[in-house]
Amino acid sequence: MNRVILIKYGELTTKKGNRNFFINTLYNNIKEKLQNYNVNISKDRSRMYIEFEDNELDSIKKIIDNIFGIHMYHIAYIVNTNIEDIKDNLLNIITNESFKTFKIETKRSDKTFPYSSMEVNPILGGHLLKNIKDIKVDVHNPDILVKLEIRDKNSYIYTNGYKGSGGYPIGTQAKGMLMLSGGIDSPVAGYLAMKRGIKLDAVYFEAIPHTSLDARNKVIELTKKLVKYTNNINLHIVNFTKIQEEIYKTADNTYCITIMRRMMYKIMEKLAKKNKALVIINGESIGQVASQTLTSMSVINSVTNMPVIRPVACLDKLEIIDIAKKINTYETSILPYEDCCTVFVPKHPVINPKLSECMRMEEKVDYNNLIDEAVNSVYTIKIKDEEDLKYKDLL
Ligand code: ATP
Ligand code: MG
Repeated sequence: MNRVILIKYGELTTKKGNRNFFINTLYNNIKEKLQNYNVNISKDRSRMYIEFEDNELDSIKKIIDNIFGIHMYHIAYIVNTNIEDIKDNLLNIITNESFKTFKIETKRSDKTFPYSSMEVNPILGGHLLKNIKDIKVDVHNPDILVKLEIRDKNSYIYTNGYKGSGGYPIGTQAKGMLMLSGGIDSPVAGYLAMKRGIKLDAVYFEAIPHTSLDARNKVIELTKKLVKYTNNINLHIVNFTKIQEEIYKTADNTYCITIMRRMMYKIMEKLAKKNKALVIINGESIGQVASQTLTSMSVINSVTNMPVIRPVACLDKLEIIDIAKKINTYETSILPYEDCCTVFVPKHPVINPKLSECMRMEEKVDYNNLIDEAVNSVYTIKIKDEEDLKYKDLL
């Protein structure tokens, strides 16, 4: 008997006017992710169906588990929409299961089918009771819940269910520029942003020779981990050395981090515009360090009008770590390579910086020129890694 992966969209169904756009985006995302598999994907307004080869099912499930916009999915048997076929096939399917009590739930989308859902349940239940010994119906707490979806040509029977990643399909929102350090917070921020349907580009600021190639590789590895949830990510590497050295030469020690982050935001805005992104995303968490007090955030943020999304702003570190472990970025994030923020970190960074002080210190250097230089010399790596994903990360 043929089986199919039956996908339920969940939250998409609330998007009335945009429904087709959401479904088509999800369809294209799934198609691209499964391009190396022998599948046939079809869709209607409430379901998507993936026909697959049995030997590829386990790998396909692992990919499906990480695609946003999928609420639930089931491995369903396909039967003809005809009561006799449904009865016979249901019996065959159910015979392989071990249970004492069962319940049947029918959903009829094909209104030309001659029986209502309420009529189908007792017909099928009666058929099972007649043919299998020692079983009973239990509508409250059954050992096995059999679901039947009656659609026009085919109907679908399933007894299992797998939770999807939820969220919205990536690409249903505009692009965002993620500030990706090698730390724990920013990959989690990127993951949460993607979950809302945002397509990501990532930006890493490095200060070679003060930071190492190992630190850069760590960020590349983190991007590869994130690409599992999307189709590709462009990672832009910014040479931040000159700017950082100028800051440490000319600014008060306590203000170095504040000014450094203001410069990062300025570069982010330019890179975002250049790459057609509408927002900046980062892993700032309120109160976590001196540069993340609300006063600091406000002084830093004042260099740009571009919205800055901070998905982990209100999470505790332990909550962020839980997500990092779940999305498999944690082990990479805790590798001990230095970051450009940590090499120069002052002993007592200012907690309540003043905007006027920042501006006074910034006047000493022609930062605009250095910023343009940094933006123009960005090195971009396109990370896609379908092969790696299929054979390394997912097995
Ligand atoms: P994380 O916050 O990701 O654990 P971190 O603690 O080193 O890393 P913070 O000092 O908390 O970083 O910086 C806050 C946010 O600023 C980071 O989450 C990240 O979004 C951004 N950021 C910091 N350093 C860099 C960098 N070198 N390149 C890109 N983004 C950075
Ligand atoms: Mg942090």
